[in-house]
Formats: sequence, C-alpha cells, structure tokens
Amino acid sequence: MQEEAQLANQAFDTGLPWHNRFAGLGPAFYTRLQPVAVREPYWVARSQSMARELGLEEDWWRTQEALEAFSGNRPLAGSQPLASVYSGHQFGVWAGQLGDGRAVLLGEVTPPQGPSLELQFKGSGMTPYSRMGDGRAVLRSSIREFLCSEAMHALRIPTTRALCVTGSDQPVRRETIETAAVVTRAAPSFIRFGHFEHFSHTGQHEELKKLTGYVIDNFYPACRDAANPPAALLAEVTSRTASLMAAWQAIGFCHGVMNTDNMSILGLTIDYGPFQFMDGFDPNHISNHSDTSGRYAYKQQPQVAYWNLFALAQALLPLIGEPDDAMAALEPYKALFPAELDRRMAAKLGFAQASDGTRALTADILALMAGERTDYPIFWRRWAEHLAGASADTLRDLFVDRAAADRWLQRFQEHSAQGGPQPEAGLALENNPSVVLRNHLAEQAIALANQKDFSMVEQLLAVLENPFKDHPEHAAWAGFPPDWASSIQISCSS
Ligand code: AMP
Ligand code: MG
Repeated sequence: MQEEAQLANQAFDTGLPWHNRFAGLGPAFYTRLQPVAVREPYWVARSQSMARELGLEEDWWRTQEALEAFSGNRPLAGSQPLASVYSGHQFGVWAGQLGDGRAVLLGEVTPPQGPSLELQFKGSGMTPYSRMGDGRAVLRSSIREFLCSEAMHALRIPTTRALCVTGSDQPVRRETIETAAVVTRAAPSFIRFGHFEHFSHTGQHEELKKLTGYVIDNFYPACRDAANPPAALLAEVTSRTASLMAAWQAIGFCHGVMNTDNMSILGLTIDYGPFQFMDGFDPNHISNHSDTSGRYAYKQQPQVAYWNLFALAQALLPLIGEPDDAMAALEPYKALFPAELDRRMAAKLGFAQASDGTRALTADILALMAGERTDYPIFWRRWAEHLAGASADTLRDLFVDRAAADRWLQRFQEHSAQGGPQPEAGLALENNPSVVLRNHLAEQAIALANQKDFSMVEQLLAVLENPFKDHPEHAAWAGFPPDWASSIQISCSS
C-alpha cells in the first residue's frame, strides 16, 4: 500500500481521461503490477498521428517526463497497470497457460474524438506469466512491430496501433546480445481467442461468462439481443476474421505465428513477430524461420484462421450449449472469406465488384506470378499505373514469359470489351500500395537504429503512413528488394 502511494506521488499527469474497464473484470483475469524500469531510456520512434488521436498534449509528448513514462520508469496518473492471463494453442498443440509475459496493460483512455483505446506496453519486464522469458523485447522486433502496426492501419487493414518505441542500452540476450525496447501499443481491446480458451479449459465457467458478457457489452452490443448471444458473438468474430484474412491475402501479408493466443477477438492483426510482406509471389511462402512444417505459410492462413475459430467455438461451447449452434456460427466463414477476397482482388484489378471475369483474371495472373515468383507489390502497383495511362511495357518487363503476360493482357482487354463495368485506375491506385514494409527496409532501418540513428525509422513511418501515394524522394523503397533480402531469416525470437 505504502509503495502504491509513493508511486502515485511520482505519477505523471498527461491529462488523459482514464477509465479502465478491463481492470473491472476482477483478479481472476489478471495480476496488478508495475512495469520494470529500464536504464537511461531514449526515444526511438513516435507516431504523431497516434498521439493526436489520443489527444496527448503536443508539449508534454516531447518532454523527458513523457520519455520516462513511456519506457515504464514512472507511472502515468490514472493508469492501473496489469498483466492479463490467457492460454492458447501454439502450432496446433494445446500450450496451457500463457498470458502477458512481457506486456502490461496500462488501462483505457477516451480520446477527444473516437472510441476508447487501451494502452499497453510490450517489453516492460517480467510478469507472473513470463514462464522462461525475461519480460523484454529487443529493439529490432520493437521497430518492426511499431512500423508495421502503423503501416497496416494506413493500408486500411484492421490492426492494433503503436504510439511509440523507447530504447535502452540495457542488454537483452537472444541468439546474440541485443538491447531492450518498449513499444506502447493501442487498441480498443487486446483480448485474444486465448483468453476465452483459458477460462473454458480450466473449467472457470463463471469467468468465461463474465468475459463473454464484457466483450459483447463493450464491443459487440448488437449480440446482446440475439437468441443465443455467445453464438452471435462467435458469428461476428467469424465474420471479422474472414475479412481480416482476405485483407492479408490480398496485400500479400504473412503473419508468421497464427497461434490462438495471437488472434484478436476484435478481428485485428495483433502480435507482430516474424511477419513479412511477400516479395516474389509464392503461395507456399513461410515468413517464420522457426515454422519448419509451414503450418503458417501464406496459403495456409485462411485455413488456419478457421481452425483457430473452431478452437474459439470449443471454448465458447459451455455457453453456447448445442454444438450445432456453434458450427452454424462458423459456417459462414466458408462463403465470407472467398467473397471478400474476390472483392479485394477485383479492386486491385480496378473493378468495384467481383464477377466471374475478375475471378478468372485473378486466378490466371496469380498462377503466372507464382510460376515466375513475380514481385507481388511491384506487379500490382505497375498494373494500377498502367490503368492510369503508363505503357504496358513496364508490366511485361516483369515476366520472363512475355507471351504469357501478353495473353493475360489480351484476356483483360477482352473482358473489358464485353460491355460490363470498366476498370477504374483510381480504384486500382487506392488498392495497390507503392510501398509496403518489406523485410529488407525494416532491416536497413534497424541497422541504423542500432547505431542510434533513428532517421530511417522516422522517414519510413512517414512514407508508410501514405502507402497509396508515390514517394519520389524514396523511390528505392518502392523498388525491387536487393539480393540479400532473400537471405533474411526472421524467427520467433523477439
Ligand atoms: P509470442 O509468440 O510473442 O506471441 O509469445 C507467446 C507467449 O510467450 C506470450 O504469452 C508472451 O507473453 C510470451 N513471451 C514471449 N517472449 C517473452 C519474453 N521475452 N519474456 C516473457 N514472455 C515472453
Ligand atoms: Mg503473442
């Protein structure tokens, strides 16, 4: 108690209005604790747009106080830090109890505009759920998470956000000795499928009911009036997950560790680790060097998401009642995912709606690209530029088999000549980014950051915040990856 009073005295007041709903769930759901301080922290990266959204005072945001607060060294007045408990299936196997092993939920703030957001530290020290881990995150993976969260948001793909990264020269042991960092993440909620699995598998059905009620009341209020609210919740999560998978597949994003504890109950992309935006198109691509069986390969993602939804359905079964009702809630996935993917691919081609024609054109071009490992982002951007008037030559140049590319272009002409909707260049430009966070770009920014030069992190953030525009001053970032990019190995180690 004395310690708490002392900490409260040292707390920094940001003026943010905190109201910590998750903390209200009670001690079965978490352990209250303080972040563990790091030595001599420094700023690595800040998202001004996220700070503005939260309503953080511009003046305060730049102070030493803010640095200390966002490295976990001094508390924020009004926050109620805690680590939550969850469980999960990892690589298809029940892993038992996990939890926030290196994350601390600070609480929830209501920005001037927009819905409430929880703020969470990642890498802020050990918790009761750290198991064998040290509670830390390294600079490398923190920069990747920060940049990718903000990049995905700008790509209009549901995701947790990131406010800032702070670093410290404090050593952290991974395969080599690296240094520590803390990412401040933001999301309406960080609840995962694994939270539901935890209370279900341990037979804590009252808590399971409480958690389900909490998620429905706060995030899916329409489910309250359904005949079977937990089944209605499952159906809604199924729908959001299906559209998230379509977004990942269309942009060429591989998550890398789709364990059920890394699946958001809100259908957000969460826990950026060994993710990758594909360079050359390869349906079998595996982004996670530790994933030797390819369980989480690019082409497996939609199927794995369904498997994970099935695990969520099992967890909710004590509340849903009839297995048939749970299966009925999952069933729409099989139609929703392909329909949403078709719509997104049609938009990449320039059409507002999918049709048999856009489906055939998509299948044809992806088959050709898979055969040649054609660069995925570059093909699509050049396609949009071609619709906007650029010559087809830059597009044809991407293929070794030019005759096959010409045949596809011919089929596209024929499709457009059939009198149906015409392709819109603007739509294609808005669905085919000029720049994505390729591995080699992150690696270059990280190499500089390791020498305390954070300029590339800042510049990359600015470009990734506007991914559908051209950035002539950083033309190389929109170009082909260097040869060494294919030898980058990103593992679970972070
Ligand atoms: P991840 O694969 O990063 O999603 O992590 C899986 C589980 O391991 C989660 O419960 C994490 O909190 C935990 N974890 C990962 N790395 C660490 C670490 N360095 N220290 C403590 N816990 C960790
Ligand atoms: Mg995780």
